[in-house]
Amino acid sequence: MDCQINTSAGPLTFELTYKKVKNINLRVRPDGTVTVSAPRRAGRAAVERFVREKADWIARARERAVQHTPADPLPPPPDDAACMAIFSPYLERYYPLFAPTIGGRPVIRLKTLHSMWGCCRPAKREITLNRMLALAPREAVEYVILHEYLHFWYPDHGKSFHQAFDRLMPDNRQRRALLRGLLR
Ligand SMILES: [Zn+2]
Repeated sequence: MDCQINTSAGPLTFELTYKKVKNINLRVRPDGTVTVSAPRRAGRAAVERFVREKADWIARARERAVQHTPADPLPPPPDDAACMAIFSPYLERYYPLFAPTIGGRPVIRLKTLHSMWGCCRPAKREITLNRMLALAPREAVEYVILHEYLHFWYPDHGKSFHQAFDRLMPDNRQRRALLRGLLR
């Protein structure tokens, strides 16, 4: 049954089920809804008291749950200066390695994209980076930047590309995994 109570954190609706359980159990589902299971002998007042005591914890758990719901829109990316503050150290770190091939500093373009993290156009001496990358873990930022640099050596993702990647960044697959699900 659905129950509504007032708590220190505001009104709260929860789904109450009486079950063969020893204690009152409370759960916040990934969509933020709250379920409570209670032993049959527990009175309604005891259940409500239990939930009320946990009001702050519930509020925090719901906030976290809602933040992780995939349907949620992504936060806007940082501005270009903030993006470059994050990207530049990695661009600098790998530049010397590729400089002989590139023959000058590549042009860095920033775009807000929904389907790719970066793109390299060797003929134009240009690397495009997704601003959303600035929100990703730093290990993944470094992964994308090295990936784009490697296209100055190899235009496609063939065997040589991956061999060079494995040599320069042995954990590149684990780093790539950090990006999964971050774009939509
Ligand atoms: Zn690529």
